[in-house]
Amino acid sequence: TSSETSVSASTVSVSAAKIRELDCDDNIAYYIRKKLRVWCRQPGGQWGLGQIQSTSEEEAFVSLSNGDVMKVARSEILPANPDILEGVDDLIQLSYLNEPSVLHNLQFRYSQEIIYSKAGPILIALNPFKDVQIYGNDYVSGYRQKLIDSPHVFAMADVAFNEMMRDEVNQSIIISGESGSGKTETAKFAMQYLAALGGGSCGIENEVLQTNSILEAFGNAKTSRNDNSSRFGKLIEIHFSIMGKICGAKIQTFLLEKSRVVQLASGERSYHIFYQLCAGSSPDLKERLNLKAANEYKYLNQSDCMTIDGVDDAKRFNKLMKALDVVRICKEDQELVFKMVAAVIWLGNISFKVTDNDNHIEVVDDEALNSAARLMGCSSQELKVTLSTRKIQAGKDTIAKRLTLWQATDTRDGLAKFIYASLFDWLIEQVNKSLAVGKRCTGRSISILDIYGFESFQKNSFEQFCINYANERLQQHFNRHLFKLEQDDYELDGVDWTRVDFEDNQVCLDLFEKKPLGLISLLDEESNFPKATDQTFANKLRQHLKANPCFKGERGRAFRVCHYAGEVLYDTNGFLEKNRDPLPSDSIQLLSSCSCQLLQLFSKMLDQSQKQSNSSHIGALGSQKQSDSEFCPEHYIMCCGVLEVVRISRAGYPTRMTHQEFSRRYGFLLSEANVTQDPLSISVSVLQQFNVPPEMYQVGYTKLYLRTGQIGALEDRRKFL
Ligand code: ATP
Ligand code: MG
Repeated sequence: TSSETSVSASTVSVSAAKIRELDCDDNIAYYIRKKLRVWCRQPGGQWGLGQIQSTSEEEAFVSLSNGDVMKVARSEILPANPDILEGVDDLIQLSYLNEPSVLHNLQFRYSQEIIYSKAGPILIALNPFKDVQIYGNDYVSGYRQKLIDSPHVFAMADVAFNEMMRDEVNQSIIISGESGSGKTETAKFAMQYLAALGGGSCGIENEVLQTNSILEAFGNAKTSRNDNSSRFGKLIEIHFSIMGKICGAKIQTFLLEKSRVVQLASGERSYHIFYQLCAGSSPDLKERLNLKAANEYKYLNQSDCMTIDGVDDAKRFNKLMKALDVVRICKEDQELVFKMVAAVIWLGNISFKVTDNDNHIEVVDDEALNSAARLMGCSSQELKVTLSTRKIQAGKDTIAKRLTLWQATDTRDGLAKFIYASLFDWLIEQVNKSLAVGKRCTGRSISILDIYGFESFQKNSFEQFCINYANERLQQHFNRHLFKLEQDDYELDGVDWTRVDFEDNQVCLDLFEKKPLGLISLLDEESNFPKATDQTFANKLRQHLKANPCFKGERGRAFRVCHYAGEVLYDTNGFLEKNRDPLPSDSIQLLSSCSCQLLQLFSKMLDQSQKQSNSSHIGALGSQKQSDSEFCPEHYIMCCGVLEVVRISRAGYPTRMTHQEFSRRYGFLLSEANVTQDPLSISVSVLQQFNVPPEMYQVGYTKLYLRTGQIGALEDRRKFL
């Protein structure tokens, strides 16, 4: 079974997110009657803690902890947890798993600088935005020797490692969360722990750790949300020997944001490598690449943001070169890489002169053109022709059609994006060759997945469509896995799990994946249809998908999808073009004729991939991050992932107690306590005497299983007696 992958450790990193409604009517009437502590929604939308004073049919008067008395609709009231549950390690321990209770618990812990909590098998990490001193070697050994048991990413990595060794089953750690929530840092801490555990004499663990500097230099950038935002998704597979020593690794990357190479939002930067190379390369290398300062390049200076507070790009460049050495990328290859990076920014400086009323252009013959051509290994004339004309087949003849300013700019930018994205892929391939699994490996591995979280902006395009589809899939994996874990527990204890409702997101996935009538199939079909436009695509979606409850057609080019994390309005503008992701054949020809081996290789690879598939490019595209996200600072620590976990737990029987524990705690409540009775009979008598409805609990061989809220009600009775 060692090739099978099971998810035993999952991490959810959270910084901020949308709050979703969670209904919770458990025992509300009882709470109101008994005037207990409740959460009530205040006019601003936030939740306040209070106590019910009096009630009418529809409303209740609640005295809040600040002394105010508020009139609140009964539908806006949720039960609060008893004091003894304040700040519990695991949210599943809460009697009431509603949104304000979960928020409050996380907030309470965060205020004490406890950034990690559990939600059943999931770890929740809140970004501390400062050095919290919990990642030193003392912590590594503390978790390794089980001297510390509070939730921590080290504890998750430890579980993954132990289960891999014990069961000989591969493990995955899945990290999700919004941009800036700490996914990449969490992934690095998990790697640090695994490297400490699996470090051997050959030092490969250090090579594995060093890959982070390389990935971040080429794939991370400063955005409005995060100074070191990953603009790609990654899966790192760490391989172990039979003795549990690291013996290799493999990196896969997804969805690099290509558009960032040529277009920047204000206050954002392009990929770190451009600035690092300009700031940190040696005078010799600068001369060979004809490099100027970063602010002289149009691709970089368009956003007026050249530096990052507290970051020295030159120092980072030296660190990068060391990392490239560590993973044994030879100096010649390093030079080739830097050459391509320089070629990209020189391409961006190539300008055009409009020569007639139809906006046709000529390429300006200047330093930019010459430098780009020299770095690419072609003549300035060849590059000029490619950027200013397009060959068209007319019968047996080929005619060169002159390009307009818009077309030429697009061709130039397309070339730059293609070179950069291919370079990124090629570099990862070289790193992988160097980290390739050795002979002594057993095929056991721990994979760490760090991908973009769910995105919903005012304007959502093809990029959000891809990212959200990936998240929808991941969510299903999460749901099913969690449900499976629950189910296993119930089955072992003889509980009828068919009575546990489980809501899946299969309907939404069907909307994307059904063939031939799903979003992706229809998109591919339209993309291959020469006369199609974004409007005809939108019409087609409306026509074929209206029966799916997760789809809502809108007027014009828009449509809505009801994702697990909320509804998203997509604009089909640009969908077809981005899905086709074309590079004009003139550009491909130019690349294949360049003397630079890398460019020849890239054009060959493109040729092959185009032959293999003439349809969907979903999974291979970049995303243009927009800066208009709906960020709500008040609701700073909830994430859809957490709510989903809570929801699944609510669907089952989150409270579990052995018959002994239960009878010891509540047995004395019985009016006719019979000491000779066994724990099981006492437990059942308690449940019957207090009229706990049969659908609210199940009796297992060893434990009692209770629905949310039941234990809270019993606790209160205990208190009142
Ligand atoms: P993106 O989706 O944009 O890539 P991300 O979720 O990967 O975002 P990170 O880059 O991991 O976010 O974190 C953003 C910043 O938050 C880090 O650069 C670091 O300053 C801080 N940070 C995150 N986690 C921690 C932590 N555990 N301790 C200290 N600082 C942290
Ligand atoms: Mg990241």
